[in-house]
Amino acid sequence: MAEFVLFRCPVTGAQVRAGLPDRPFKHSGSTYEAFDCAGCGGVHLVNPASGKLLEDKA
Ligand SMILES: [Zn+2]
Repeated sequence: MAEFVLFRCPVTGAQVRAGLPDRPFKHSGSTYEAFDCAGCGGVHLVNPASGKLLEDKA
């Protein structure tokens, strides 16, 4: 499955596309998953349903 999520890296400010892992997501709108970031090489907690980061305030 070629699903992916787009999010904004808080370190570089760049839009990053990360593939979803090979397991089902609960699209409840409140679940955050850890994604490897191609922008800064770190890991961010992103809500795959909304593309929002856990650390986003708004
Ligand atoms: Zn990053």
